[in-house]
Amino acid sequence: SCIICTEDLWKTYDMGSEQQVHALRGVNLRIERNEYVAIMGPSGSGKSTLMNLIGCLDTPSKGLYWLNSQLVSELDDDELARIRNKEIGFVFQTFNLLARATALHNVELPLIYAGVPASERIERAKDSLTKVGMGPRMHHKPNELSGGQRQRVAIARALVNRPSIILADEPTGNLDSQTGVEIMALFDTLQSQGNTIVLVTHEHDIAEYAHRVVYIKDGVVSRDEVTERGASLA
Ligand code: ADP
Ligand code: ADP
Repeated sequence: SCIICTEDLWKTYDMGSEQQVHALRGVNLRIERNEYVAIMGPSGSGKSTLMNLIGCLDTPSKGLYWLNSQLVSELDDDELARIRNKEIGFVFQTFNLLARATALHNVELPLIYAGVPASERIERAKDSLTKVGMGPRMHHKPNELSGGQRQRVAIARALVNRPSIILADEPTGNLDSQTGVEIMALFDTLQSQGNTIVLVTHEHDIAEYAHRVVYIKDGVVSRDEVTERGASLA
């Protein structure tokens, strides 16, 4: 089933004095449940704008967006925030972990906001950390972990609310290439366990580890290809 489905999606930024930037010019994109997709494209092509729309951080100027079968393109900010917290697990280039909190506490935080009872929170946070191979380090703080380990904790945090999609913005951008490949392999494992993963990357070598690559150019989808890895699994 279609988990991300857009129809003629436009985003226009008003720059004042009648100047406008058309960041997206009619994006049509279908991503099915349980896909592993990399989004690529030159700087300024509209990738961040598209990620902001997919992640329900912003609304389109025109067009339709269904997230998990719900039409979200017309929702107001409060409704959008509710959907976002339920449906999307975010992963960032800079990890965005709380420096003073342990891995376990960082992963537990989204569950505190979601009102999950304490006993259940710990169990779920531990499960999530175990999934990403960070069980043995759950009591460490970010500064006691390597970059790759920090990103694993951030991925555990993104998973803990059981979102429909993991949405990652340059998740390997701050990692050396070997560690970046390990993070891509972790996403592969999570995909095989039923998760849906959408990420942005600048790096071709990294995108090849996904199962499909969507290229954005001048605010539209210019190419959409299954990778060798994706073909080998089909
Ligand atoms: P990418 O992520 O591929 O670099 P962006 O989505 O950031 O592309 O930008 C697409 C276009 O929209 C660029 O011309 C950029 O300058 C413009 N843009 C992005 N965000 C804004 C904004 N908040 N206000 C005005 N223009 C923006
Ligand atoms: P990225 O490196 O992810 O493509 P950018 O450098 O394009 O990010 O943009 C960083 C932030 O600045 C984003 O939130 C984007 O929406 C905003 N932005 C990008 N271009 C402009 C612009 N021309 N005017 C105002 N904001 C912009």
